[in-house]
Amino acid sequence: MYEELKLPRMLKGLEQVFEQFPEHRTGKNTQYDLSDAGMGAFSVFFTQSPSFLAHQRDLKLRKGRSNAENLFELRSIPSDNQIRNLLEPVSPTHLDCFYRQTFQALEQTGVLKSYRSFANQLLVAIDGTEYFSSKKIHCEQCSQRILKNGETNYFHSALTPVIVQPGNEHVISLEPDAKRIVPQDGHEKQDCETQAGKRWVEKHGAFYAKRGVSILGDDLYSRQPFCQALKDKHLHFILVCKPDSHANLYETVDFLAAQGVLATKVIRKWIGRYAEIHTYRYANKLPLRRDQSALEVNWCELTITREDTGELIYKNAFATDFEVTDTTVEAIVRDGRTRWKVENENNNVLKTKGYHIEHNFGHGNQHLASLLLSLNLLAFLFHTVLDLVDEQYRAIRQALGRRRTFFHSNSQYGFAFHAADC
Ligand SMILES: [Zn+2]
Repeated sequence: MYEELKLPRMLKGLEQVFEQFPEHRTGKNTQYDLSDAGMGAFSVFFTQSPSFLAHQRDLKLRKGRSNAENLFELRSIPSDNQIRNLLEPVSPTHLDCFYRQTFQALEQTGVLKSYRSFANQLLVAIDGTEYFSSKKIHCEQCSQRILKNGETNYFHSALTPVIVQPGNEHVISLEPDAKRIVPQDGHEKQDCETQAGKRWVEKHGAFYAKRGVSILGDDLYSRQPFCQALKDKHLHFILVCKPDSHANLYETVDFLAAQGVLATKVIRKWIGRYAEIHTYRYANKLPLRRDQSALEVNWCELTITREDTGELIYKNAFATDFEVTDTTVEAIVRDGRTRWKVENENNNVLKTKGYHIEHNFGHGNQHLASLLLSLNLLAFLFHTVLDLVDEQYRAIRQALGRRRTFFHSNSQYGFAFHAADC
């Protein structure tokens, strides 16, 4: 079961994608294939823990299978500089098909069934994250900002969509958008992140809409242009919707509340030492902004207070295209709240749990930084999928504890990507 999602098959599939990388060399210096370089870079990100390999040996796993060390050692792997030179001209979009294949394999094997949430949808949380920052190193794709001291800071950002599920720590990475998010002319960060979001929806939205997807996002996404882009692709959405940025919508909410016609649902929850009061308020068909062409959205809000002290524990609100009723409001809010997982279970893991996505593994002048980011995200996707379907892998990881860093002592392959001086 799940054979196509186990390590040997996943690696084989990835190698086939590397083999499709466009050949950019014209001379005869082709000692290594581009797929050697791709696999070499990927192996660094995948085997982030040296003890993971040692441990696998100890467990005497089936010979030649599920053994990352064997799988990578059998290959001829170029040096780190050769890898950088070979991969530099390759756009990260050449890896998109592998994310898509993995999604389809997860779907076909039924793994994604358990991820389905309200209205049988998959929840895709989108968020932007910076993965490189330097005052010295930069490339044509770098974004830049002027610091208070007048120095220029160069950086890259990427949109990193993931499938999330309430109560599930495993997030499943989808194709990132690693193109330059912030243009050189100093657009607001928020504008540019939503531009990246729209670009992603334009490119991938129709595919995921057919599979039943609700997009989750921060307040900056619950604006008319982005909501319209989602509607155009028939994607559902549950997006944070704050009063400060939606004055017109909240005027309507306040008016309905003042008239005593704003729907409200109150639930008392005993959570051990005290009870929480969960107050839901909701309304349907509210104009998202003031003008004539405003989209209508449905709105719901949750306020949680302590019953004994009245202390405010949580308050948030969402704009959605799902009809909000007494029976749907709890599930819609629960799904909307799952958005934070893209920050906690994705961006933070990628920064602090052995992936080091903020390090500079190699920058290049064209695509290298963004290609390496996408390979790093793929390593994270591999780990997640193996955690979900491969019992042996799960046992090894549990025996080892948390993910550990691989980058400082990767001598087994005769090379390592050391973080360059940023
Ligand atoms: Zn750059």
